Amino acid sequence: MDAGLSRTMPARHVAVVGAGYAGMAAAVALADAGVRVSIHEAASVPGGRARRVELRGVVLDNGQHVLLGAYRVLLGLIAKVGVPSQALQRVPLELRYADGFRLRAPPLPAPLGLLAGLLGARGLSWGERLQATRFMLAMKRQKFRLARDMSVDALLAAYRQDGRLASHLWVPLCVSALNTPSALASARIFLAVLRDGLAGTRADSDLMFPRVDLSALFPEPAADYVRARGGELHLDSRVQDLAALRNRHDAVIVATAPQHVKTLLPEYEPGYAYQPIVTCYLQYATKVALPLPMLGIAGATVQWVFDRGALLGAHGQLACVISAEGRHQALDHESLAAACHLELARALPGLPAPLWNRVIAEKRATIRVDPDLPRVDESAPGPGIVLAGDYLDPDYPPTLEAAVRSGLRAAGLVLARGAR
Ligand SMILES: Cc1cc2nc3c(=O)[nH]c(=O)nc-3n(C[C@H](O)[C@H](O)[C@H](O)COP(=O)(O)OP(=O)(O)OC[C@H]3O[C@@H](n4cnc5c(N)ncnc54)[C@H](O)[C@@H]3O)c2cc1C
Repeated sequence: MDAGLSRTMPARHVAVVGAGYAGMAAAVALADAGVRVSIHEAASVPGGRARRVELRGVVLDNGQHVLLGAYRVLLGLIAKVGVPSQALQRVPLELRYADGFRLRAPPLPAPLGLLAGLLGARGLSWGERLQATRFMLAMKRQKFRLARDMSVDALLAAYRQDGRLASHLWVPLCVSALNTPSALASARIFLAVLRDGLAGTRADSDLMFPRVDLSALFPEPAADYVRARGGELHLDSRVQDLAALRNRHDAVIVATAPQHVKTLLPEYEPGYAYQPIVTCYLQYATKVALPLPMLGIAGATVQWVFDRGALLGAHGQLACVISAEGRHQALDHESLAAACHLELARALPGLPAPLWNRVIAEKRATIRVDPDLPRVDESAPGPGIVLAGDYLDPDYPPTLEAAVRSGLRAAGLVLARGAR
């Protein structure tokens, strides 16, 4: 036989551990290639860290999520599994704070839109606008790359991005996109976000808000797609014996969060630190609404507040998001909900008292995106076992987009390696 020809047999039956966005992306790609896929999910709902939860009689998400127009792979998959485009509300980038700060990118080709947005930003001095414009142009000149990684704070200091530029623009962007305090976060990954989200095409910087719950946005329709192609999703099915699963299948994709990789394949969790995200849902009278779907609160514990009435029809329901570590972690849920309401009431005069609250604290929402973060290779576990998950992308922060990109890479590896 020609040595250049592969002897590998195609994989016919593949197991996926974890029905988060990464695992479901992998399953869809394998099902498309004619492979029978069996997905095992420990929880009773698919979606992992982006899932529907029912908490004391109220259906919510485990955390409010925002997508970007730059999430091309995820948006493509959502369309592929048949989710109508109305499931996401797409709006041109607008960062507006309750204190009057406002940055809106006009519909111009990149990077003109952002530059015009910076120059026209309300709440910045002319000096700050010019400093920000110089910074973006300097980053563009160096193709949003750095010779050596450093913290986001060090990068901002080097380009004199202080005052409101730091407090209303770069630091909130860093904390939201990397879920890591700017003093600790990798400037290299931050610049990748600026490149893809702010300096790509105009549509890349669009904000996209789910109008359905996060399980219905992709994991559940993806499961239907896989079932229609001969596969199955087993809920409440925690995999404990990876070797036994491997023996029953041509290959296994381990698409769990890294802290769960630790229990299945301990050598492939290189000692990540983790960061929390807290979502505090406050239900007000149904007439309460925000002026736009997402509003920033500067200098407060709450970073962004979302109007679930405008988005999901849950009128009067506001979701307060607190990304990354902070002093709020010392508060119990009732005290935190009270503190969130006080901050909102200060920012939105006339806000009545909330009718109820639900606080969901995801202690290990994502890995901490340190400078020079070690990343594991998806194929590292060797023949028959491939990793997938949001923590595996060397160039992107741990997000839904990183998760599905990794899922597709994992499926590609399985298809290329065949049944070995
Ligand atoms: C509160 C919060 C807010 C966020 N906000 C955003 C945002 O606005 N935008 C954004 O892009 N990203 C956001 N993220 C990040 C995003 O949710 C994650 O990057 C993404 O969901 C990770 O997907 P994943 O498939 O890699 O992992 P996971 O979602 O963790 O999926 C892994 C799955 O594996 C299952 N599992 C684990 N062990 C086993 C086992 N032994 N057997 C069977 N199943 C197992 C788990 O139950 C889970 O369902 C947020 C995350 C959180 C927590």
